[in-house]
Amino acid sequence: MADKTIPYKIYLSEEDMPKAWYNLRSDMKNKPAPLLNPGTGKPLTAEELSPIFCEELVAQELDDTTPFIEIPEEIRNFYKMFRPSPLVRAYCLEEKLGTPAKIYYKFEGNNTSGSHKLNSAIAQAYYAKKQGLKGVTTETGAGQWGTALSMACSYFGLDCKVYMVKVSYEQKPFRREVMRTYGASVVPSPSETTEVGRKILAEFPGTTGSLGCAISEAVEVATKNPGYRYVLGSVLNQVLLHQSVIGLETKTALDKYGIKPDIIIGCAGGGSNLGGLIAPFMGEKLRGEADYRIIAVEPASCPRFTRGTFAYDFCDTGMICPLAKMYTLGSSFIPSANHAGGLRFHGMSSTLSQLYHDGYMEATSVEQTSVFEAAEMFARVEGILPAPESSHAIRAAIDEALKCKETGEEKTIVFGLTGTGYFDLVAYQKFNDGEMTDYIPTDEEIAASVAKLPKVPEM
Ligand SMILES: *Cc1c(COP(=O)(O)O)cnc(C)c1O
Repeated sequence: MADKTIPYKIYLSEEDMPKAWYNLRSDMKNKPAPLLNPGTGKPLTAEELSPIFCEELVAQELDDTTPFIEIPEEIRNFYKMFRPSPLVRAYCLEEKLGTPAKIYYKFEGNNTSGSHKLNSAIAQAYYAKKQGLKGVTTETGAGQWGTALSMACSYFGLDCKVYMVKVSYEQKPFRREVMRTYGASVVPSPSETTEVGRKILAEFPGTTGSLGCAISEAVEVATKNPGYRYVLGSVLNQVLLHQSVIGLETKTALDKYGIKPDIIIGCAGGGSNLGGLIAPFMGEKLRGEADYRIIAVEPASCPRFTRGTFAYDFCDTGMICPLAKMYTLGSSFIPSANHAGGLRFHGMSSTLSQLYHDGYMEATSVEQTSVFEAAEMFARVEGILPAPESSHAIRAAIDEALKCKETGEEKTIVFGLTGTGYFDLVAYQKFNDGEMTDYIPTDEEIAASVAKLPKVPEM
């Protein structure tokens, strides 16, 4: 049994919080490929991006060279309401598994939105406010991003319009009400309120929507209404930048006790929590100062890294957004209806895609029943009811810890516990009732949506 000289929770003080975000791209030799204008096939300029995004965020999006970008004091003050977040030593999980591995998790669920997404939401709302905008539009799937953004907008007095994937709007009324409580207007997507929504409804009557479709609607509303911009909760470089607070705090906490992780694990939706958690560690790896095994975990039902194609693709279904080079299943890919664990976006952050392509990280996919088994074990021994998304990382961490049990290796594993699962109880109910099934897309299904990738001239 571990001697427990390390505390159960490593807390930092407010002074230990990072004063600047770390821009991982600055240390990458192969920079992530630029966003392309879908009309011209040319890299998007700041001028072209500024009708969609706030100016300061455009600058951050395009900045591949500045290593540290100061966190404005207003944002740091907001962070202090829920940061620094604890790094927890999972002694109880280690004991339950009987593993010699040392397991730590960085817990980002200690705020009302229930996830790490508030780290970027507050930054994006701040820059919109600073630019004198009236409001922002966005999409949300399960609702965590919309909730985080509505909290951030109410803090700065901005209007917030959320396009929520219809199936979630209907199945997750509670998250919707949290958003409305913070003053956001929430529209089920696809809707009749946009041109692209009407077009999708005409083509696919009865569709329950997708993230890609909600993005198209939110972008349309932002670009057609003066004083509005669009904000996105993941995938983009700027979001990974803001999420670097997770990794910077994790590194400070580990350094405080002289702990060096062997394996760093995170779940991957659009890649923002993973990109943020690994940022300073990947930086060391890129600079040749240290080595870590870094593992992205994705659902077997939406396997971008493990079965997707590295190519330029649309980020949305309506094909109005910029093209991003990423591991993708094709923008027309929609995970099967029984998929309950989140992480359902068809693509992946360009930064992480490039790093994965260059061999700096690994990826694994896990099936949802095994994810919920891990979630249940974690909840019972560690006390926290994890979000299904986060539970993908728990699954992989448990699997690595069990390998250590076989080999007797005392590896140090750090994983990101991105949020809590209080609003995911329909999924837990399915699992508890034994009604959860696994669905893995066939090669033919993936090939069919990949065949529809846009044709982009080789650069
Ligand atoms: C949104 C979300 C994710 C996945 O998004 P990333 O951008 O890949 O981090 C993971 N966990 C939780 C709790 C989320 O809300």
